[in-house]
Amino acid sequence: MPAPPPQPPRRHVLVLGGTTEARRLAAALAAHPAGLRVTTSLAGRTARPEAPAGEIRTGGFGGAEGLAEWLRAHRVDALVDATHPFAASITANAARATAATGVPMVVLRRPGWGPVPGDRWYDVPSLAAAAEALPGLGDRVFLTTGRLGLAAFAHLAEQHFLVRSVERPDPPLPPHTKILLARGPFTVADERELLRAHRVDVLVTKDSGGEATAAKLTAARELGLPVVVVRRPPLPDGVTAVPDVAGVLGRLGLGSEATEGAAQAEGTA
Ligand code: NAP
Repeated sequence: MPAPPPQPPRRHVLVLGGTTEARRLAAALAAHPAGLRVTTSLAGRTARPEAPAGEIRTGGFGGAEGLAEWLRAHRVDALVDATHPFAASITANAARATAATGVPMVVLRRPGWGPVPGDRWYDVPSLAAAAEALPGLGDRVFLTTGRLGLAAFAHLAEQHFLVRSVERPDPPLPPHTKILLARGPFTVADERELLRAHRVDVLVTKDSGGEATAAKLTAARELGLPVVVVRRPPLPDGVTAVPDVAGVLGRLGLGSEATEGAAQAEGTA
């Protein structure tokens, strides 16, 4: 009996992850009828991350050159950067590595937040600028920018900080700091109660975007509180983003049948 003809290698998609969107995307790609090979890359910062569908690799690549080497060694056909909008270094590295190797790159970014009537938002470009803006705005600060970068606020000795993060932040922290370890999503009622219970008079947030964390913004609006919004770092020159999984599938040429697969996969993720 003649040997069966050799199968062409499966198309390999590398997803740079660490976000809810990246998990949804991995589920959609793994369920796609084209039979893709899907690998999600995690930085390894979270002790017990929720596992995405497909293969997983963990830890830094060693800069843009290391990532380019990984793309070649693992015969990656397309890279999707689905990292957090504030993870600017890995996005910059991905842009350089894909330019060097000729691997197509798609960036998935959930849309950012915009103010609605009643919001008192103060846009700033960085955590350092948020710290500078605070003294004029309030004394009891709800700081929700995550556990990294809090050193920017460490010199503020007059304000009281309530810091919420999933994992314990490292010092240096402001001298008057209470830490609240919690993982969202949170409801508007929860957030309103929290703001009242801690007598918060100003909220600081990154423009992370996405529905899950918008409840704090609604609660702040209801209570008339000012919100310092740290805007996103810009994408590398020449790089544009799509807002959702369907956009990625379109850019990868995986079409509308894939979108149906994605919707089903998202429902079960
Ligand atoms: P970053 O500042 O852009 O990246 C710092 C370094 O960490 C990169 O140069 C890279 O190391 C490594 N790295 C980052 N993301 C990686 C990934 N997905 N796979 C492999 N290596 C990765 O990133 P970050 O802001 O520290 O975020 C780290 C991870 O947490 C990302 O996956 C991001 O999606 C997630 N996250 C970040 C935030 C945030 O507010 N920044 C919030 C939620 C989730 P090498 O140079 O050695 O390759």
